[in-house]
Amino acid sequence: MNGDSGYQNVTPEDFLEYEGIEYRQTSGSRGRQFNIRECPKCGGSSWKVYLGVDSGYGNCFHGSCDTKFNLWTFAAAHLATEDNKAIGAKFDEIAKGGGWRPKQRVRKQVTPALSGALKLPMSVAAGAAGIPYLNDRGFSAAIQTAFELRMCHDGAFFYKDEDGNDRRKVFSGRVIIPIRDLGGQLVTFQGRDVTGKADPKYLFPARLSSTARYLYNGHRAKVEGWAHAVMGEGAPDVWAIQAAIDGDRNWRGIGAIGSFGKNLTLDAEPGMPTQLQALMELKAAGLKIITILWDGERAALTGAVKAAEKLVRYGFAVRIGFLPRGKDPAEVAGEIVRKAIDRALPYSKALGIKIKLRNPYA
Ligand SMILES: [Zn+2]
Repeated sequence: MNGDSGYQNVTPEDFLEYEGIEYRQTSGSRGRQFNIRECPKCGGSSWKVYLGVDSGYGNCFHGSCDTKFNLWTFAAAHLATEDNKAIGAKFDEIAKGGGWRPKQRVRKQVTPALSGALKLPMSVAAGAAGIPYLNDRGFSAAIQTAFELRMCHDGAFFYKDEDGNDRRKVFSGRVIIPIRDLGGQLVTFQGRDVTGKADPKYLFPARLSSTARYLYNGHRAKVEGWAHAVMGEGAPDVWAIQAAIDGDRNWRGIGAIGSFGKNLTLDAEPGMPTQLQALMELKAAGLKIITILWDGERAALTGAVKAAEKLVRYGFAVRIGFLPRGKDPAEVAGEIVRKAIDRALPYSKALGIKIKLRNPYA
């Protein structure tokens, strides 16, 4: 294969397939197009997004959205990031699956993003009163404190660009969500908008590793030696799952971790941490069962089956939990989350095939 970036070696179809995005192929006056169920920008899900099969150019026709996409901006919206490095890394990951390898280049000296320890944007801890935005969404102050959540009223992330220049990225008006590696080291964070107006909803610090390399709350799983981890997608899902678990005092040795999306980074990459490494480390610390509890929708379930297929190969007992259609763990009562965990189905090849043939959320 040719081309010197993973992006140039990924077709729109490769991307949709790899990400488990629901689509169908159509052809009309504009030529062959993929018709995609859900718009990654506006969230409209009535099949009004089109992407050229060959060009990757397209549009969303949901209401006033009218977003124009190319494959890169579509990927950015889908991954909910504006970090070009993270987007490029995703395309590299997909292209590598197809046999593409990056050319070895002599790289110029790049200044590290940080000169010392990672410093979060200036912010205040949730404390006993909690953060109003999160209180309103039903997250207790205890959960907010357990996850070290902070409110950034007026603050920024300070870092150096590749040439060593001082830069800042503003996180004002966002809940700061610290992310630690398994050793408990603060490695990155997310900033969740509380105004409902900021784009993107989640902001990431520039130049730090993608969250997709870490397991959210994994450090706690390790310290406490959980035998059973319930894996949600995003941070709020993990808070909700943990709150549900805490709500039943009879449950022991179980807790919530997060995958930061519908994919696990399971392929070893020299010098870079992966979620697989983290999971194997947790296994050594006693983790046996992983219940995947992703959103109640088709793509998430398809992704869960793919992840389960891989995880059983690494010796985990994997279960797949089902949430009500269209809901994530933070959108239902704790009782519903506990039921979904209780009634999760053990993953087997047969279950995988059954779901592939007839996705209950289709
Ligand atoms: Zn749209």
